[in-house]
Amino acid sequence: MFETTLAGSLPKPSWLATPNVLWAPWTLTGTPLQEAKEDATALAIRRQEEAGIDIVSDGEQARQHFVHEREARVARAATARKLKFTLPGPMTLIDTLADGYYGDRVKMAFAFAELLNQEAKDLEKAGIDVIQFDEPAFNVYLNETVDWGVPALEKAAEGLKCTTAVHICYGYGIEANIKWKESLGESWRQYEETFPALDRSKIQQVSLECRNSHVPPELMTLLKNKTLLVGAIDVASDRIETPEQVAATLKLALKFAEPERIQACTNCGMAPMTLAVAYGKLRALAQGAALARKTL
Ligand code: ZN
Repeated sequence: MFETTLAGSLPKPSWLATPNVLWAPWTLTGTPLQEAKEDATALAIRRQEEAGIDIVSDGEQARQHFVHEREARVARAATARKLKFTLPGPMTLIDTLADGYYGDRVKMAFAFAELLNQEAKDLEKAGIDVIQFDEPAFNVYLNETVDWGVPALEKAAEGLKCTTAVHICYGYGIEANIKWKESLGESWRQYEETFPALDRSKIQQVSLECRNSHVPPELMTLLKNKTLLVGAIDVASDRIETPEQVAATLKLALKFAEPERIQACTNCGMAPMTLAVAYGKLRALAQGAALARKTL
């Protein structure tokens, strides 16, 4: 119980990319860049293991192209632990492309869902244990999410035997998101619309932000059939949580779900942080989960 994992991204070392920014430009080119990406992936995994994380990720150290099989194989070779890999979900993917161009967003989403499904199957073959689709667009298009967003996501996950997860989230570190969230008020209830549809879906794990979040924790009761990726780490603050604070978040989740269905996670990716803060937070996450297990 309380297995520990993370939403996905981690900061890149300065010899790979400009530190502390989202979508950082690479520091190198050509073969040195390829080698540096592979070293950074192995190092990110080793640092997660040292921090005590159970389900590690490649930290999105090498991402650039749509086809990630090589990155998955590098990450797989670097760890014996369970390994998570993130992909964009179909709705989020088409939302970032020029909309209007294809005319029919639904058709376009399902076309991308098929490509993602092929990609996910290749990742599964490469030995990935958990494939997590990132779908922040689910918070923006609530009706569409229920109508075709979740079905397109299921299409992307069709036939997979590995564990499947979806990370929705309110977005962190981007100016447009910060402005949008200011308009949402004290209680963020968007998940109330989408969680019932996700609970009926075949996706096995669903994330939600808890630590320092405006998401009402009782929305967890809408996910009766899922493993909950409970965000116990605030990614919008550089202040490192104490193990006690992490344990308190996990215990709060126990009011709404059985311990076997709870995983300790970060609220979102940690790419824009410093390495010291990000891995400090992961250590606190592991220590807090251990503390919660002990005092259960
Ligand atoms: Zn996120």
